[in-house]
Amino acid sequence: MGRLRLGSILVNAPDGLRPVDVLTVTAVTSVTPAVRRVTLGAPADVVTAAGPTLSLLVPRVGDRSPRWPQIARDGRIVWPQGSHGVSMRRYTARRQDRAAGEVDVDFVLHGDGPAATWAAAAAPGDVLGVASSAPLGDAPAGWLLLVGDETAIPAIGRILGSAAAGARGVALVEVAGPEEEQPLPAPAGVEVRWLHRAGAAPGAGTLLVDAVAAVQPPAGSDVFAWVAAESATVRAVRADLRDRWGLRRGQHHAIGYWRRGRAMSGTD
Ligand SMILES: Cc1cc2nc3c(=O)[nH]c(=O)nc-3n(C[C@H](O)[C@H](O)[C@H](O)COP(=O)(O)OP(=O)(O)OC[C@H]3O[C@@H](n4cnc5c(N)ncnc54)[C@H](O)[C@@H]3O)c2cc1C
Repeated sequence: MGRLRLGSILVNAPDGLRPVDVLTVTAVTSVTPAVRRVTLGAPADVVTAAGPTLSLLVPRVGDRSPRWPQIARDGRIVWPQGSHGVSMRRYTARRQDRAAGEVDVDFVLHGDGPAATWAAAAAPGDVLGVASSAPLGDAPAGWLLLVGDETAIPAIGRILGSAAAGARGVALVEVAGPEEEQPLPAPAGVEVRWLHRAGAAPGAGTLLVDAVAAVQPPAGSDVFAWVAAESATVRAVRADLRDRWGLRRGQHHAIGYWRRGRAMSGTD
């Protein structure tokens, strides 16, 4: 039997499927001109499970009672038959506060994809589903290289926030311009360097690739590199990390967070 959530109570469901967790928007704020923070309310156990990375189920704008998929015992997502209007996209919980029953997700407003459109219109009372959660893929190390664009700032913020006080390294963050910089508290030995696109389209240039190429890899093996941005950028940075930096599999995590000109999969 699957588990069914009734309010905050879990009961057995007869068909081996369980409902997804549904979180309700409690507040929406602008972090920067292009980043909207959506605060979601949920019971403490849902908040604990909602992150750090999330497979979000995004309804059509204004739909507060969508036809959600269900989750099979093996974790498979079972979509309802026919049109349901729910799209799945991956995001990062910027903050999970179990005591307050809150999760913050920062959405980059980049265009007319289902998630960006939903976030641009989000208002208290709207709902989002969570199909599953996963780790960030980071690992502790004495020297950190963090590389990403706006979509990676929530993850980079969490990694910097949990880094050892004595960690050293550099975080290279690409944004449109100074107005898109965000406070990123970091250990004293980790430099946060902002790179401005200055009018270029997101994902079109080589700012991050060039910035990584200009970093001299530190001596020793206590190094970890975490990279997330547009897919082609990530591929180029990953090649540098493997070739010039000589990082082994367990010393880096490099993942495309979005693809230029292509929707991510999981649309209805
Ligand atoms: C593990 C993980 C964590 C992520 N965390 C976050 C997060 O915390 N915040 C966040 O904003 N994003 C995050 N992303 C990226 C986000 O999932 C993608 O940007 C996604 O494509 C947005 O979905 P959409 O429905 O708005 O657009 P889609 O329907 O996927 O795409 C529509 C169009 O928009 C373009 N597009 C998508 N993203 C961008 C962008 N950033 N800039 C310019 N054009 C874009 C696509 O190329 C496509 O042409 C994360 C991705 C992963 C894999």
